[in-house]
Amino acid sequence: MSIADNIESLKKETDIIKVTLIAVSKTKTVQDIEEAYKAGQRLFGENTVQELVDKHEHLPKDIQWHLIGHLQTNKVKYITPFISMIQSVDSLKLLSEIDKQAQKSNRVIDCLLQVYIADEETKYGLGFDEAIELLRSEEYTNLNHIRIRGLMGIATNTDSEKQIKDEFYELKTFFDGVKQSYFRKDPTFDTLSMGMSSDYKIAIEQGSNMVRLGSTIFGQRVIKHWKNN
Ligand SMILES: *Cc1c(COP(=O)(O)O)cnc(C)c1O
Repeated sequence: MSIADNIESLKKETDIIKVTLIAVSKTKTVQDIEEAYKAGQRLFGENTVQELVDKHEHLPKDIQWHLIGHLQTNKVKYITPFISMIQSVDSLKLLSEIDKQAQKSNRVIDCLLQVYIADEETKYGLGFDEAIELLRSEEYTNLNHIRIRGLMGIATNTDSEKQIKDEFYELKTFFDGVKQSYFRKDPTFDTLSMGMSSDYKIAIEQGSNMVRLGSTIFGQRVIKHWKNN
């Protein structure tokens, strides 16, 4: 099936209709993204700053780009002029830098706090207690050029559906608690980004309203540089 076919059939899935679909285009070419764009897709996710900046330059400007990979503070300035949402905020230091750079671009940038839910050492993200600490800090309260729209999480890469379900359930419960405690009067705290190609159905069942799909749309990723595909 072509990229356009994949998008068409996803749009017919009853659970996908309810959520926001981010097409994860990392390692994929500009032509692949154009094909998805022609099929109506406007939200794309990338995991590195370099690829994001290059692709933004070469593709239509009404694409909304989401950063979904770890962001180093020294690279924030390259994406703040155009980024639509940064889903991978994993420290107050990073959030402060985003705020500082967003101010220079005269923007307010939508962010998600990435919360660590997996049973793996390699995943970035804040612990539940660290996320709370950030939200309670005076430094956060003083940031005017970022807006925390919700949370993002990545489940463990495992065959155990039960474990994945439990992790997503935990994040949804945390999301509801955070909303109640810190964003009660703020309807813009509304995004729970969880679910990738292998686990998005479980994620939606557990209350996700934004899924990030790469291989389901673009096919398997080969580990090659996107420019040399
Ligand atoms: C690569 C990636 C995805 C998409 O992965 P697929 O399994 O191809 O759907 C989603 N979220 C993050 C954070 C990723 O890095």
